[in-house]
Amino acid sequence: MKRIVVLSGAGISAESGLKTFRDSDGLWENYRIEDVATPQAWKKDRRLVLQFYNERRKQVKAAKPNAAHLALVQLEEKFEVHIVTQNIDDLHERAGSKKVLHLHGEILKSRSTMDPHLVYTIEKHELNEGEKCELGSQLRPHIVWFGEMVPALEYAAYIVSRADILIVVGTSLAVYPAAGLVNYVSPEANKYVVNPDPVVGELAGFKFINAKAGIGIPELVQELIKS
Ligand code: NAD
Repeated sequence: MKRIVVLSGAGISAESGLKTFRDSDGLWENYRIEDVATPQAWKKDRRLVLQFYNERRKQVKAAKPNAAHLALVQLEEKFEVHIVTQNIDDLHERAGSKKVLHLHGEILKSRSTMDPHLVYTIEKHELNEGEKCELGSQLRPHIVWFGEMVPALEYAAYIVSRADILIVVGTSLAVYPAAGLVNYVSPEANKYVVNPDPVVGELAGFKFINAKAGIGIPELVQELIKS
């Protein structure tokens, strides 16, 4: 079975109503990234950080997978498919994709500030001050903030290196180290970018499909299934 790896970014969830950063001109839903998505922000104003992610979680829960998320699931009939996503939403899983690796964490989970291996599902919409892990430390969102290590990076690079086909969708390739993953793909792999706008840098050997994910991905999926 040939292996397909999909590298997805915020753009694939845009048609589900979840905004990308770039939609909002450097802000994320009217917040400055430095104020809500960095370890410094957590030290300075934990309440604001929790509020920001509580709002995002509510939006994610209300959103539904779109035609792009759903089409990618069909690929599993014919290929071994791995989704490596920068997204913190669960729309790939809710669409039905079986192997999803979240590089930047998951908004529906919390984790201990004492032991990063203690990860919990957030049952309600909110995570608030005073909610603690089993060791007694405050829980934080299970998110990789700007300036933090990306623990899944090495495994993601391994997955990309084994791809026969690589599809890059909805990412500007501007956020590192995730953007560097495209460099691990084999020169022999077939490579596609689906994006209505240009991406950062030159991607030698990639076929650029200039379309929104909701149109470009279902078309590409049909082409790959027929090939
Ligand atoms: P990004 O750097 O991946 O940029 C968004 C890209 O999506 C742009 O290239 C844009 O042209 C493209 N795009 C916009 N609409 C599209 C569509 N309909 N179809 C296909 N492509 C489309 O993403 P970002 O917004 O800069 O986010 C970077 C980080 O922020 C992510 O790595 C993630 O951790 C976080 N984030 C996550 C979500 C989410 O989980 N849904 C949303 C916003 C931000």
